[in-house]
Amino acid sequence: MKNFAIAIDGPAGSGKSTIAKIIAEKLGIIYVDTGAMYRAVALFCIRNGVDTKDETAVNIILPKIEIRILLENGVQKIFLGDEDVTRKIRTLEVGQGASDVGLILSVREKLVEIQRDLAKDTSVIMDGRDIGTNVLTNAQVKIYLNASVEERAKRRLGELKGNAIDSDIDEVMKQIIIRDKSDMTRELNPLEKAKDALEIDTTNMDIDQVVNEIIKIKEEKLMEAGIWE
Ligand code: C5P
Repeated sequence: MKNFAIAIDGPAGSGKSTIAKIIAEKLGIIYVDTGAMYRAVALFCIRNGVDTKDETAVNIILPKIEIRILLENGVQKIFLGDEDVTRKIRTLEVGQGASDVGLILSVREKLVEIQRDLAKDTSVIMDGRDIGTNVLTNAQVKIYLNASVEERAKRRLGELKGNAIDSDIDEVMKQIIIRDKSDMTRELNPLEKAKDALEIDTTNMDIDQVVNEIIKIKEEKLMEAGIWE
C-alpha cells in the first residue's frame, strides 16, 4: 500500500494527542507529536537560563539542542541528548515556553525539517498547529479539531493531574486563552484551519466518537485518492 499522512491541527486541549495516539495504534502507523518538539526546545532553554522570549539568545543556544525522537511501539518518546524528557515537558511553564519559541523562525525551520523527515518513508498521523497548512501540505487527510475553551481547560487540567502536576481550572483556562491568541495571531505559520481540512468540534463527543469519525474520513479520503489498504 502507498504511504499516507493524517494531519491533525487545533488549539491547546482540543484532544489532538489523545486521539492521534489511539488512531496510530488502530491503524498501525506512526504518531508524531510536534508540540513535544517545541516543548523540548523550551525545556532546554529554561534549564540553561535562556529566556524563551529572547530570540537572539534562543538563536545562539539552538545549535546545541539535540532533539532525538524514538518510537516505542509506534509511540513517540522525546530525548534531549541522551535524556528522556517525554514526561518532563508536560508542565504549564514549558507549554508557555513552547509557544514562545514557536514564534522564532530558526526554531520552526529546525523542527519542521525533523518532522518532514519522520514522515518521509512511512504512513504517519502527525499533530500540531501547522501540520495541514505547512509541514505536510500534501497530507491526504487533514483534520482541524476544536472544542469550547471550558472543555479544553477541563481536559488539560486532567492531563496535568495525570502527570502529578498541581494546578486549578482558572489558571489552566487563562494559560489556554493566552496560548491560543499567540498561536493564532503569530506571523509564522499561525494556527488556522487548512482550506482542505475538515473541522470536528469535540466539545460534546467522547474519544471513541472522534476516533471513529476520523477513521471514517480517512477511509473516504484514501478511497478518493486511490490508496487502498
Ligand atoms: O500541542 P502542545 O500544547 O504540546 O504545543 C505546545 C506549543 O508549541 C503550542 O502552543 C504552539 O505554540 C507550539 N507548536 C507550534 N507548532 C506545532 C506544534 C506546537 O507552534 N506544530
